[in-house]
Amino acid sequence: MEGPVLCKCDVPASHAVCKKDGAHKGQFFYGCGHFGTERKTCRFFQWDIRYDLPRPNLRPPKRPRSPSLSPPLSQAKEEEIPVSPETRAFVRLALQDYHRSVLQARLEDAKDVVADLKRQLIALEDLINSE
Ligand SMILES: [Zn+2]
Repeated sequence: MEGPVLCKCDVPASHAVCKKDGAHKGQFFYGCGHFGTERKTCRFFQWDIRYDLPRPNLRPPKRPRSPSLSPPLSQAKEEEIPVSPETRAFVRLALQDYHRSVLQARLEDAKDVVADLKRQLIALEDLINSE
């Protein structure tokens, strides 16, 4: 059976979760067992690969550009240039398409959040069971 992870001080390493915003947020790691004590730390650091599952996509959701026809439409309103019903219908469709893609992007983000929470829960259960 594998023993506990030891730091360079030859003591069981501390186990914690990364709280810093960024690509590693929510990921578990090992640090010097003396971290947070009066003792000098050895600066030991190692990611806990047991929980090294795919990271959530932390990039901001893709926001599609506004339909190119909307500025001419608003301009037309100001300047009172007649806009054909076909153009209005086209713009309405384009806006609906845009709205749909925004909602889809949000749904993708929500999936990442759910996956991340599930992973953290598994890690927590594992931690509870190992104690
Ligand atoms: Zn140490």
